[in-house]
Amino acid sequence: MSFRTIEDLGNLTGKRALVRVDLNVPMQDGAVTDTTRLTATKDTIDSLKAAGAKIVLLAHFGRPKGERVESMSLKQVVPALADVLGEPVAFRDHGEALGDETITVLENTRYLPGEEKNDPETVAAFAALGDVYVNDAFSAAHRAHASTEGLAKVLPAAAGRTMQAELSALEAALGNPERPVVAVVGGAKVSSKIAVLTHLVEKVDHLIIGGGMANTFLFAGGYPIGKSLCEAEMADTARETLKRAETAGCSIHLPKDGVAAKEFAAGAANRVVGLDDIADDEMILDAGPATVEGLGTVLDSAKTLVWNGPMGAFEIEPFNAATNALAQKAADLTQAGSLKTIAGGGDTVAALSAANVAQHFSHISTAGGAFLEWMEGRELPGVAALS
Ligand code: AMP
Repeated sequence: MSFRTIEDLGNLTGKRALVRVDLNVPMQDGAVTDTTRLTATKDTIDSLKAAGAKIVLLAHFGRPKGERVESMSLKQVVPALADVLGEPVAFRDHGEALGDETITVLENTRYLPGEEKNDPETVAAFAALGDVYVNDAFSAAHRAHASTEGLAKVLPAAAGRTMQAELSALEAALGNPERPVVAVVGGAKVSSKIAVLTHLVEKVDHLIIGGGMANTFLFAGGYPIGKSLCEAEMADTARETLKRAETAGCSIHLPKDGVAAKEFAAGAANRVVGLDDIADDEMILDAGPATVEGLGTVLDSAKTLVWNGPMGAFEIEPFNAATNALAQKAADLTQAGSLKTIAGGGDTVAALSAANVAQHFSHISTAGGAFLEWMEGRELPGVAALS
């Protein structure tokens, strides 16, 4: 994997860099509630300023679908960004002339109908605003839009620092990893992650399947699962995945026990169940202690861990226990230096943050869809355009 970086753009004195960033931050009552993505723009901005460039930030905000939706104006993110950067940030609408400011945020790229269509005229209109293009939005790299892909084809282009860090971490996780490699794939449904499973069985040494999707695998193996979340129609696919894994030499780890309850609710009465022992009116909401202990041993001997999806219904206590325990184990091994840990996806980041271990992982990807597509082994157009 090779891609150009800011150094490859040379001296940028007197030039303007168009920088695609991720400003799609959560907001409540007009205030930004999580500034992680804003902070992530800082390294690239500092590097470009050091190279002498002025900076125009391009980003989308929400899904206005090519129309002006006032509630999705990027103008409202500008004060928080200026705060995080500790310097003034100007704002311009589409069609407005740029000023002399060092940092300018351009209005929501998705206000323009040509953005998501990657329309050449829109690409040209963006390109007219700058001399070079830097893509620092890995989270939008699975889309071939004007600001994520088209621009890379018409201007000298490079990866920004956050993109660079993300790509290096992903390369170390699945591209050229230290083995054994373990993947944890959890979450609700097999159907949304089947492409991930199919790719991973070819890539990793151990595949841990958790969460609601594990129920489908147990069902496919003939175990009773009561009224657990399960996609019965995916049973053949599950069996097929097990076969592929066997052929590829990948060990699949399914739950050995579970924590079952009669209702999906915080604090619901629950009990640890063996695989044969669940009642018709119960559902498995988490992996059980024997499962967690066994998986700890798998992690003990691993060198690399890739994680997407929780091991159980982590939003409701106590069904976050397996996710928390496995996350803590992975964090401890990372801190001890024996394991490299890479995790991504919205729910996964939320689960690891709730477990208080996100900061102890080697790399946390803030990308949702792009991270999943990468786990599926797909080429991301925004990344491919930088190589
Ligand atoms: P995903 O978005 O596919 O990563 O799925 C995450 C969701 O899966 C979370 O909302 C969890 O509550 C849910 N989940 C995980 N395990 C279970 C389970 N055993 N039963 C029901 N929901 C689950």
